[in-house]
Amino acid sequence: MSEPKDPVLDLFFQTGAYLKGHFRLTSGQHSPEYLQCALVLQYPEHAEKLGAQLAAALKKITDQAPRVVASPALGGVIIGHEVARALGARAIFTERDASGKMILRRGFSVEPGEAAVVVEDVVTTGGSTREVVECLTAAGARVLAAGSIIDRSGGRAEVGVPRVALATLTVTAHPPEDCPLCREGIPVTKPGSRPTPVA
Ligand code: ZN
Repeated sequence: MSEPKDPVLDLFFQTGAYLKGHFRLTSGQHSPEYLQCALVLQYPEHAEKLGAQLAAALKKITDQAPRVVASPALGGVIIGHEVARALGARAIFTERDASGKMILRRGFSVEPGEAAVVVEDVVTTGGSTREVVECLTAAGARVLAAGSIIDRSGGRAEVGVPRVALATLTVTAHPPEDCPLCREGIPVTKPGSRPTPVA
């Protein structure tokens, strides 16, 4: 990624949510950069604005107003809540059970045929969004679309329903055995484990 001109990515720069360093991604690959959405979403005014923008983007790809927004916990909860606020819908979230399966807990439910959208902070492979889509479909909802603030897949992630993101980018990533930062002897960190981000 180069210096963004995009207003959404600019917000990540402003809030220190665009981290530079040497990171081990969930995929196991190493990357010199990482987007930590929680650092943008800690500011309610930014969360509300991004939620309104994502709601507007979702409206463009759906033919019906969603009545429920579902997000995977933890990362999707805040942005899902703000999208629901903008859509006048309710916000629910899924969690993993002991076996790792994505399920609705806490008494959350959907009505048969209820129009739903799935919202996440960052889509990387699309895996968790796809799991939420499947969870809601199995519970009887009609999932219209999915959305995220950031799409790190370069637009490639498939989630089984139409998908939209406020910013799409391709993150530089290297397998650990062929990582230039490892060769320089720079210690690798797991995103989120650094106390102070270097923006
Ligand atoms: Zn490395």
